[in-house]
Amino acid sequence: MRFSKLYAPTTKDAPKDATLPSHKFLLRGGFVTQSGSGLYSFLPMGKIVLDKIRDIVKEEMDNSGANEIQMGVVTTADLWKQSGRYDAFGKELLRFKDRKNNEFVLGPTHEEVVVDMVRNIITSYKQLPLHLYQITTKFRDEARPRFGLLRGREFIMKDGYSFHDSQESLKEEFDRMEETYRKIFTRLGLDFRIVEADSGAIGGSGSKEFMVLADNGEDDIVVCDGCDYAANIEAARRAKRTTVVEPPEADFAKFYTPTPVKDSINHIAEFFKVDKFYTIKSVIKKAIYKDEEKIISFFVRGCDTLQETKAQNACGALELVDASEEEVKKAGFNPGFCGPIGLPEGVEFYIDEELKEEKNLICGANEENYHFVGVSMFNLKDSRYKDLVQVNAGDICPKCGGKLGVTKGIEVGHIFQLGQKYASAMGAKFLDKNGKTQPFYMGCYGIGVSRLVAVMIEVSYDEKGCIWNKQTAPYLLDIIISNTKDDEQNSFANELYEKLDTKKVLLDDRKERFGFKMGDFELIGFPYALIIGKGLKDGEVELVDRKTLAKKKIKKDEILEVLKDLLS
Ligand code: ATP
Ligand code: MG
Repeated sequence: MRFSKLYAPTTKDAPKDATLPSHKFLLRGGFVTQSGSGLYSFLPMGKIVLDKIRDIVKEEMDNSGANEIQMGVVTTADLWKQSGRYDAFGKELLRFKDRKNNEFVLGPTHEEVVVDMVRNIITSYKQLPLHLYQITTKFRDEARPRFGLLRGREFIMKDGYSFHDSQESLKEEFDRMEETYRKIFTRLGLDFRIVEADSGAIGGSGSKEFMVLADNGEDDIVVCDGCDYAANIEAARRAKRTTVVEPPEADFAKFYTPTPVKDSINHIAEFFKVDKFYTIKSVIKKAIYKDEEKIISFFVRGCDTLQETKAQNACGALELVDASEEEVKKAGFNPGFCGPIGLPEGVEFYIDEELKEEKNLICGANEENYHFVGVSMFNLKDSRYKDLVQVNAGDICPKCGGKLGVTKGIEVGHIFQLGQKYASAMGAKFLDKNGKTQPFYMGCYGIGVSRLVAVMIEVSYDEKGCIWNKQTAPYLLDIIISNTKDDEQNSFANELYEKLDTKKVLLDDRKERFGFKMGDFELIGFPYALIIGKGLKDGEVELVDRKTLAKKKIKKDEILEVLKDLLS
């Protein structure tokens, strides 16, 4: 490609809201443009990178035996009502009506459509298993679209759906997909971890996420230093926390404890001179459901932090938001003095399961300025106890007893064992070996294809711009004609370019200053540049490695061979 013919509008500055390197450099390097909040268009070079990633994903998916299809982005609301997700999905699902008042959604994921596609067509176990996948546009009305392609509202996903006659067959495909994803992310040259995950709005059990390790990741992942245990913080477990600090032994009693409502747990620990391990704190949230809102208290140890996704799963809400003091009081709670013992009838609460059957605790007495001491957690229903706490660095691994650490990751893939959830809700059944009808077992498997474009930069950039690897670079080599008025430079560069694979090579023949072209090379980040400059008179050209910015002089007669090697 000749740079003079390429639409790659590079710019000096990025918009203010572009804080991450991938967001900045993809805009500045002319890979993408923004057309609205969370909406991006791919320019020629962005499209080349996207297609390279897409090709790798497609090749490995095809190798795994899956069939590629393409479903529509617009879906009738009726299908979403059949699965029950029309109401359950929350605000990320964009709902709209046509001129005849029929309801539709823009597909954020395609379980419903694909189930409808095979329903009443795949009717026997003999036609199973089957895996259908696509690489298409998704729309999610994200609450906070940000970080460019990392969290758009419109984005490109590879989504696959498999159908099975048994849980075992599903597990086999799930494992095959784990392997397939491993191959895809390895081919892309990424450093990733496979982690236990929360299943979110998609549902089902047994899900794993593929996390690329990156400082700017939005996800916290917990990893063990002693074994292969790794989990998203939303789903991470730990060995039950213990302490060597002596418990504050006391008979059950109510104490006058005038403390400020704000930060009351620290005041209480100070007041009684106890370790916060022996205190219970209350975190009160407003839980949003389809048709109602509830104020709910979650109780965890004073030294622990409530993990919001776990809390949301515990109460089954669509969303948890902060509750105002007024709402908290109106619901019957006593802010600053709220405890799990002696709450008013009818209020909703959950307790962290590590508190079950614990003794010698201190908690609010549900009365202003009073706390209980000597509390034992014995007489509460099992259903009150849920895993609610956030795992922290330094906690103990639930698998091997090693030490857990927390690191940042970007989710690039997610695989789920859905089981029969969707097929039963939507009445998609097959005849099994024994002549009985039953709903399909299903798995679903996603990869954030457009997110990966940004991920490639998040893991490889410097202060000047992108540093693409060979697998994903828009072009591998940028031949820079230093002075386009120089006939010798022009003809040498053009002849060389014609002898190479022009799909892999960009010839910067623009009538611009050398410094400007070099700046574009560094910003766009092709793996190599070849400078055809003054040295040509002495029979020399210069090869630049983008990663190290090291320059190497090479004889002009030898350069063709060197480049052929480089490009192969
Ligand atoms: P996240 O937790 O990041 O919102 P998710 O759990 O909602 O992701 P899935 O429903 O599993 O994501 O979708 C499959 C893949 O699609 C994700 O692993 C991710 O790589 C990608 N993806 C999800 N949401 C977005 C988005 N808003 N923009 C770009 N890619 C996305
Ligand atoms: Mg999401």
